[in-house]
Amino acid sequence: MHTIISRREMLRVSAGLLAAGVVAPLKTVAEAETRKSVYLPSLHDRARLAIQCLTTHCDASRGYVPYFYTRMSDRPPAMFLAIWSYGDGMGRSLDALALLRHMTGGGLDQPADRVMRAALIGLLGEDGLSWCPAEPWLMPTPHTRPSWLQQGALLAFTTLFQLTSEPKYQHYVERIIQALDERLVRKPGLPATFPGDTYTHLDGWSPASTEPNEPFLLYCASVTMPLLRYYRLAGYEPAFRLASELTDGAVQAFGGGEKFFELGHFHCESRIMISLLQRGIIKNNAADLELGERLYKKARALGTQSGWFPEQVNNPAHNRSNLAETCSLTDMLEAAILLARHRNAAYWHDVERYVRNHLLVHQIIDVGWAKEMTPTPLEKHLLRFNGDDRTCIEGAVRGDSVMPSLIGGFAGWGAVTSMSDDSTFSNCNQHCCNAAGARALYDAWCYAVTEEAGIVSINLHVHRNHAAVEVVAEEAVSPDQLGVLRVKVKQERRLRVRLPEFLSAKEMQVKVNGSSAQARESGAFLDVGSVRPGDRVEVTYPMKARTTEERIAPGVFTFRWRGATVVSASPTQKIRPLFTEDRFLSAPPDIGPIPSREFESL
Ligand SMILES: [Zn+2]
Repeated sequence: MHTIISRREMLRVSAGLLAAGVVAPLKTVAEAETRKSVYLPSLHDRARLAIQCLTTHCDASRGYVPYFYTRMSDRPPAMFLAIWSYGDGMGRSLDALALLRHMTGGGLDQPADRVMRAALIGLLGEDGLSWCPAEPWLMPTPHTRPSWLQQGALLAFTTLFQLTSEPKYQHYVERIIQALDERLVRKPGLPATFPGDTYTHLDGWSPASTEPNEPFLLYCASVTMPLLRYYRLAGYEPAFRLASELTDGAVQAFGGGEKFFELGHFHCESRIMISLLQRGIIKNNAADLELGERLYKKARALGTQSGWFPEQVNNPAHNRSNLAETCSLTDMLEAAILLARHRNAAYWHDVERYVRNHLLVHQIIDVGWAKEMTPTPLEKHLLRFNGDDRTCIEGAVRGDSVMPSLIGGFAGWGAVTSMSDDSTFSNCNQHCCNAAGARALYDAWCYAVTEEAGIVSINLHVHRNHAAVEVVAEEAVSPDQLGVLRVKVKQERRLRVRLPEFLSAKEMQVKVNGSSAQARESGAFLDVGSVRPGDRVEVTYPMKARTTEERIAPGVFTFRWRGATVVSASPTQKIRPLFTEDRFLSAPPDIGPIPSREFESL
């Protein structure tokens, strides 16, 4: 029969035995009992929330077309359809939704997903391009555009082709490419461009935009990232050729790349940065890789180490250079992953900081705070809906259902240390960011653990289920600040764990099945050696406390860190502070099922 003794009694007994020299590790027993650990949410749980937004923040009666803009500070809040809801927004949604269904094991044949796919296919015209219908809130006649509308459709159909191998998606992608190729205007010595901004059967092409903050050539090049993904997957030469012409045109128009990230829309420019890296990797082209890396470093200096990146650069209008766009963060995350895998593993440090901090905190997980926002009078608002003055019009929803539909979405114009700084744009959401954040969750999850030639690499210290290993990342916060990576081995492999920033192999303690193990430093990684099914590997290391002072467009901000995790930030901005204690969990979260296959998102 077991005797139950109190903790105090146990310590007294242990102390007596210790004094008698019978046992030694009293301190360890006490420490283990008093050790307090916290956990960040799992990417899997956040993906499930993101799916909720992607399938509810949309007009189900129109095939789940997403509401592109939400004025969260309106009384009551309002969300409405806009031109970017169609090929662009819905394409981005479907790309992210398919990836997250794969990640969470939900399957692609959910009712909402099927309708969304049918709706996106239904927008394709006889010319192969994605079109916008005639609606009171759009143009009075159906129209198409060669740029963002097509990029969203290309992104979705490429991902669907990748996940399902269905030839129809290949057909849709290649028809869009052929139609764009036929319309591209090529003149000797000039960057290749499209004939105009919009096209209707009634009036032909409208003139291209001359807005200096959003140069037309950048818009034209928005399709390059999905084109290069498709080329990597299917080897379709016209995709590579078109992407190359458009990328080169944009680079030429921006002084050989020198003028990028000086002015205007960050996301337009960061997409070119990714295309240069993709092309450099595909063709092993040193010049592309060098320019892509240089642009990444320049863009990185505009944001914070925690992953806040601006929507606009040096644009004084409407406070927008002081606000983030989640699309910018996703591009920076994807660029850093490409650089880490193909250029220098030190870029994993950037990825780790972006993922643990702004990617998680700029996801909308609660909504009560919208009531604290200062409303902007409609007549002064820049995000207007064509039906704002009419009470009975479709395409918009006003009321209590609006904010809950954003749960799982991401900041459209986020502040640095809060969700919003209470300025007009910061009190709004744009749907591109809801989908971009969802894609970034997949990117981070996908590349957290990678496998090549029998070697499993744990690149990010985040929770991840993988066919070969199951990883849980714990943060012991007292008495010492320690990172503890717990790995359950499921398949025989050689195991590597990336060394956290500022640490060397000497500071890492490795235990296999409870016994200390020798692990050697191998470049940016700790080589644990061969592991077998059933092995339990525990890697423990100090999470160093540090403080950074970061000077960015909206001001100077102080971040306090525990390893790669921001624990607090100041000054605190106005609505829904981000870096609060409640972002940590007291128990390990659900890390989801083992994926049936590993699919790359880049
Ligand atoms: Zn966006």
